[in-house]
Amino acid sequence: MASEFELIRRFFDRPVQGGARTLLGVGDDAALLRVDPGMALVVSTDMLLVDRHFSRDAPPRALGHKALAVNLSDLAAMGATPRWATLSIALPAADEAWLTEFAEGLFALARRFEVDLVGGDTTRGPLAISVTVLGEVPEAYALLRGGARPGDDIWVSGMVGAAGAALAASQNRARLEPQTASIARGRLEMPEPRVALGERLRGLASAAIDVSDGFAADLGHVLERSEVGAVVHYESLPRLRTGDAELDARCALAGGDDYELVFTAGQEARGALEALACELALPLTRIGAIQARPVRLVLLDAGGLEMAAPAGYDHFADAS
Ligand SMILES: [Mg+2]
Repeated sequence: MASEFELIRRFFDRPVQGGARTLLGVGDDAALLRVDPGMALVVSTDMLLVDRHFSRDAPPRALGHKALAVNLSDLAAMGATPRWATLSIALPAADEAWLTEFAEGLFALARRFEVDLVGGDTTRGPLAISVTVLGEVPEAYALLRGGARPGDDIWVSGMVGAAGAALAASQNRARLEPQTASIARGRLEMPEPRVALGERLRGLASAAIDVSDGFAADLGHVLERSEVGAVVHYESLPRLRTGDAELDARCALAGGDDYELVFTAGQEARGALEALACELALPLTRIGAIQARPVRLVLLDAGGLEMAAPAGYDHFADAS
């Protein structure tokens, strides 16, 4: 296997884009970064393990994209502007073709958001990828989970359920039409972090979260932190339609991996949010309202009857 130094230099040492912000990137003992005055540093990290979070034969380009995308999504949910990332990767062997594709997927996304890769680590071992992202947000404008208030509207970007449907199809738990399957697979493998939306929600949204565990579980985190309840109209939830309504509900409510933003905002923000949806060419859909306690998500079907909320994906549910 090529030396660690050699691997980093060949695949992950790229010219910095952040200009004056990145004083020093890869190549010294540590990176040196400049945060703008008045800005809070926002940090998020995520780990992807082979056979657990992705399959052994997953396309490396998509993997490079996704490893960064899921972290950028967390920054988006905080209203932060991404600036830097570090990458730690364990590899069973230095497969050059694999590394080339992986790095291309990662850097294509990093370039789009002007994120500099400023450090990391490589080691030999079962394939595992950990990315840490760092971003900035004006201190008073970070979007937290705890800010939802009774009377606020609940909104969701894009649509949910596609990634869950793709996963179900790949495990032969669902059968999708070819066109639907292709849309769903794209959403699972190449999720789009809603960075621009997150930045624009500063001062508009009262709380936000990204959909990683599943819509119901993630909205549940907002309710817990904000100590409020919610009523959501399932029919208004924008979701992938596969022709199997039961599958659609399971994927939309508990599928996870969608990386859309769920956020709350006062009713006075409706006009601004509708205009923002047009400007970003990203659907923003109002799906319900925050209520006073108890902390509980009430899902209503088209007839106004309460539906059972499925449990979200639990990372430890099937761990032995
Ligand atoms: Mg998150």
